[in-house]
Amino acid sequence: MSAEYQRPSASPDALRLHLNERTDGCSLRALEAIRSLSPADIGRYPDYDAAIDAAAAYFALPASQLVLTNGLDEGLLAAAIVALRGRANGEAIVIDPAFEMYDIVTAAAGGRVVRVPPGPDLAPDVERLLAAVTPRTRLIFINTPANPTGLEVPAHAVFRVVSEAPGALVFVDEAYAEFGSGSLLDAAARLDAMPNVVVGRTFAKAYGLAGLRIGALVGAARPIAALRAVVPPYSLNAAAAAALVAALADTAHIDDYIDEVRRSRALLYAACDRAGLGYWPSAGNFVLIRAGADAPRLLAAFAVRGISVRDRSGDAGCAGCIRVTAGRLDDTRRAAAAIEEAMCGEP
Ligand SMILES: *Cc1c(COP(=O)(O)O)cnc(C)c1O
Repeated sequence: MSAEYQRPSASPDALRLHLNERTDGCSLRALEAIRSLSPADIGRYPDYDAAIDAAAAYFALPASQLVLTNGLDEGLLAAAIVALRGRANGEAIVIDPAFEMYDIVTAAAGGRVVRVPPGPDLAPDVERLLAAVTPRTRLIFINTPANPTGLEVPAHAVFRVVSEAPGALVFVDEAYAEFGSGSLLDAAARLDAMPNVVVGRTFAKAYGLAGLRIGALVGAARPIAALRAVVPPYSLNAAAAAALVAALADTAHIDDYIDEVRRSRALLYAACDRAGLGYWPSAGNFVLIRAGADAPRLLAAFAVRGISVRDRSGDAGCAGCIRVTAGRLDDTRRAAAAIEEAMCGEP
């Protein structure tokens, strides 16, 4: 069985609040770094040692403990290959509702997905996850902060899974870590001793570099070496490598945005409260709104105002749920106004 990614559509001039991108894009310094590349730089296979060193400094770990990938998506695929290839009946456990790439990479590597159903509040349930572990379990995806709920899995719960499922690779997808309360990498010393856990990070979301495709796998040197062996040697292109070094140096560009995301989330919560809609307090740059029977009306209100959002109704436990990116305040104000006008205005 194979799974296929469906690219969500959006009209070209819409306000893009459907893919958790940074609507104001990347650091201008990153763009300057790309502009200053020479024809010869583009003509050569990329040498991205400087980008690896910059990323290692950013994660405060030696370069032997990370591998840069062509987006975190490629990191997910690498993990699926390492964990599942050549294993008859190998299984990957996914906690619903989940990011769709877990299904795609598991199918690509010949594995079977085992789903952990959500509880009533969509909280990631580690007990149910552990109950699903069998001798066939080779890979476990834990997404924190989780897409689409914005809920976090505490580090102690992650470490419990790592120690109780020693036969599986635990992939901790931290695509939104910059917006949340911390990273598993804050416990780097503990991570060092663990051969079966890897942390996935991306520069697509908080850094606004989605179009360049830059992700990282981070962990103890041993699992990272196994992953590096399946990632092509020139996965990061020359433009991405130059941009990453410049983007990581521009700390104001990121700090400012993280602060604004916090205020944007609060703005969306307030709009939902006034409109009588439920939502999950989010640790990501998005908020999942539970509109229930009002979902069609709310989706129409976004559409008519040229705002693209993500209807997550098809996800397990997410009937009537809509995910809205919480980024720059000006953009969020438009989304908040759409919510209030749709729900509180004249019928
Ligand atoms: C966006 C996202 C990714 C993919 O990141 P890329 O670097 O763009 O490939 C991975 N995991 C989750 C949960 C995401 O939301």
